[in-house]
Amino acid sequence: AADKIETIVRLAKSRGFVFPSSEIYGGTRAAYDYGPLGVELKENIKRQWWKAMVTGREDVVGLDSSVILAREVWEASGHVKEFTDPLTECQSCHKRFRADHLIEAYEAKHGREPEHGLADINCPHCGNKGTFTEPRMFNGMLTTHLGVTQDETGLAYLRPETAQGIFVSYKTVRDASRKKPPFGIGQIGKSFRNEITPGNFIFRTREFEQMEMEYFVKPGEDEKWFEYWLNERYNWWLDLGLRAENLRFYEHPQEKLSHYSKRTVDIEYRFNFGGQEFSELEGVANRTDFDLSTHSKHSGEDFTQLEQDSGERWTPFVVEPAAGVNRGMLAFLLDAYAEDEAPNAKGQMEVRKVLRLDKRLAPVKAAVLPLSRNADLSPKARDLAQQLRRNWNVEFDDAGAIGRRYRRQDEIGTPFCITVDFDTLDDHAVTVRERDTMEQERVALDQVEGYLAARLIG
Ligand code: ATP
Repeated sequence: AADKIETIVRLAKSRGFVFPSSEIYGGTRAAYDYGPLGVELKENIKRQWWKAMVTGREDVVGLDSSVILAREVWEASGHVKEFTDPLTECQSCHKRFRADHLIEAYEAKHGREPEHGLADINCPHCGNKGTFTEPRMFNGMLTTHLGVTQDETGLAYLRPETAQGIFVSYKTVRDASRKKPPFGIGQIGKSFRNEITPGNFIFRTREFEQMEMEYFVKPGEDEKWFEYWLNERYNWWLDLGLRAENLRFYEHPQEKLSHYSKRTVDIEYRFNFGGQEFSELEGVANRTDFDLSTHSKHSGEDFTQLEQDSGERWTPFVVEPAAGVNRGMLAFLLDAYAEDEAPNAKGQMEVRKVLRLDKRLAPVKAAVLPLSRNADLSPKARDLAQQLRRNWNVEFDDAGAIGRRYRRQDEIGTPFCITVDFDTLDDHAVTVRERDTMEQERVALDQVEGYLAARLIG
């Protein structure tokens, strides 16, 4: 399993999905750049989320709020006070860790709590045992300074979640879109957390992207809606190709809930990091009326809803599915990666690496490949590729042996390879090869666009 992560890390770099940022200066484990294929895959994930959660629904609208909000937002939301993690340092190697992460990893490995707390735990870096300091609370928000002064007056926070931008504009969005509960506001955007132990590739970084939707409901209906959204979100991951055996729910124990939450259930994926099989992919939280009430109290704004018939007035409860784009991408890559066999040029079976990504997620939808680099075939193939680019991200490739070009497309998950051969010059048809079955079909040149359109829905 650990090899699988390494395989993906290697493939991600060599094929241009994702690689360490600032690598020429040594890179960092805390930041990654998304290359030509990575940016496509990431955009496709976001597009599917947006379609399923926003534009595909009558009861949800979209928003793109600022990364830097008024400082009062984070004071009111409780983040200045509560968004803190217990930090500990190993006295042997001076590496810092989050104490709760160390304990969780211990529990995952041994199936029980460490009897003497941190004293029972070996340092993940140097291996020494019982060398941790007493944990100290550390605020996880990244700060910056606005304006010319570097002092307290210009202090600002980069958002650690996109949700607060939704809460503070709740009323404006509700009224402008003429909605009333039950309805939701969805948002995709960057969030920042000063993580102490970034790592596991793109699983935990300091800068990341979230896909969050705040669903506002009448108090009393929150538990029903919680079940509904938990189910919707689980099915979204399944529908886009993650295997059920690699997904599970994790119910947060009551005593460990965040300050705003009445119930939180994570959708976990079998990432298999170190000793830990499952890790969080998405969290679904019942945030109650905590956020709207606290912002109402601090700002004076009225977020209540008046019920016409009963005259009843209430502050909406919020159910929030919050997913990570980057973690999602890692899960999709891990789940899609497979090795099977395919015949090489001599007809012998060879190991084939293939990304069985859902067609909707595949970064390149089709590759047009002339059988060989040739004055007749190459221009014809190039023209076809250009025609198809009006609708999809399409590659043209005429460098090297055709078998090797197929392999390359398989490895990046391209669903269709379209070969222009010498017969094409006579029969005006091409061979379309499907990635997973490797079945080939002869399709008339003027039918290729329709052929793909019927198979690349969504
Ligand atoms: P964790 O316990 O792993 O730190 P969290 O419970 O703090 O995560 P949430 O606040 O629920 O995370 O955020 C919602 C989602 O945002 C997570 O499920 C995850 O997919 C993503 N996410 C959170 N922190 C990071 C990070 N540092 N890097 C990448 N993705 C993240």
